[in-house]
Amino acid sequence: MKKNEIEELASGIREGNRAALSKAITLAESSLYEHQLLAHELIQKLAPLTGNSRRIAITGVPGVGKSTFIESFGKLLTDKGFKVAVLAIDPSSTLSGGSILGDKTRMEDLARNPNAYIRPSATGGYLGGIASRTYEAMLLCEAAGFDIILIETVGVGQSETLVNGITDVFIFLQIPGTGDDLQGIKRGIMEMSDIIFVNKVDDFGIEKGKEVKVTLTRSMQFLPQKDSGWKRKILLGSGLSGKGLNEVWETIEDYFYVINSNGNFQRRREEQNLLRTKEYIKEQITNKAMALYKKERLNTNMLADPFWIAEKWIRENIKFNQ
Ligand code: GDP
Repeated sequence: MKKNEIEELASGIREGNRAALSKAITLAESSLYEHQLLAHELIQKLAPLTGNSRRIAITGVPGVGKSTFIESFGKLLTDKGFKVAVLAIDPSSTLSGGSILGDKTRMEDLARNPNAYIRPSATGGYLGGIASRTYEAMLLCEAAGFDIILIETVGVGQSETLVNGITDVFIFLQIPGTGDDLQGIKRGIMEMSDIIFVNKVDDFGIEKGKEVKVTLTRSMQFLPQKDSGWKRKILLGSGLSGKGLNEVWETIEDYFYVINSNGNFQRRREEQNLLRTKEYIKEQITNKAMALYKKERLNTNMLADPFWIAEKWIRENIKFNQ
C-alpha cells in the first residue's frame, strides 16, 4: 500500500465508507511492521474524529446470550439514531484457531442494518496484541462516524482485562446458576463490571431473577468499590424479548453522567493511554527483536541452558541504552 492510498482511505473513512473502513482495519490487523506504520499514519490523520464514542464492553460465558443481547440492544440504539459498531474479541480463535464466538451468521439482522457495522475478532498474534488491534479498529470506527462501540468478549477471564483497558463501561451478562460462585475468574469479571445484566428472565421467570439479584448484591458487598465513583448496578431482562434493554441504556447514560462530572472519564482515558503506550513498546520491541532473530540465527550448542543462550544472543545483537 502506498502513501497516497492512505490519504484515499482517510477520505473514504471520513465519508463513512464501509469498504474503506474494513480495508483500514485489515491493514491495522496486519502483522507486518510497514503495515502497522501505515495504519498508524492513517489513524493519526483521523485523530480529530476519534475519541468521542461511548466504548462499551459486553461479556459473559458462551451461551449466556451475548449475541442475542447485542442484536436487540444494537437495534434499540440505531432506532434512537445512533450509529453502532460491534467488535468481537475471541481469545480462543487467536490461541487455537477455533472460535467460541462462532462465525458471521451471528447477529444477522444487525449486520444488515445500515447504521450498524459488525467486525469479527482480530485473529493471529498473541493475546496482548489483540487489545491493541481492537483499539485501532475502534478508533477507525469512531472516525467513520460510529458513536457507540460495543466490544464483545467471551467471559473466560483473559480477554476481559484487555477489553477493560480500552473501554469506558463494562457490562456483564449472567444467568441463574452462574452468579453464585464468586471464585476466580468470575470474581475478577464482577470486579470490573459496572452493570450486571441478569439475562433470560423471560425463560426462568422474574421471581428467580430477583433471587439472583439478591445473591449478586450480597456477593458484591465484598468487592472493592469502583475507582470511578460509580456504584455497580444489577438489572434484569431478556436480550431475546428486549425486556430491560431500555433500562440498560438509561443506566449507561447515568454512568457517563457520573464519570464525566467527577472527572473520572478523562482520568480513565489517560490511564488507558498509558497502558496502550506500554503495550506498544512491548509489541514493537518483540517485533523488532524477532525480525532480527530471523536474520541472526543462533549458532550454538542447543543442549545448553536456553535462558543463557537467549541472554547471550540478546547481549550480542541488541543494544539498550541502559
Ligand atoms: P452467546 O454465546 O453468549 O452469544 O449466546 P447466544 O446469544 O448465542 O444465545 C445462546 C442461546 O440462548 C440461543 O439459543 C439463544 O436463542 C438463547 N437466548 C439468548 N438470549 C435469550 C433470552 O433473553 N431469553 C431466552 N429464553 N433465550 C435466550
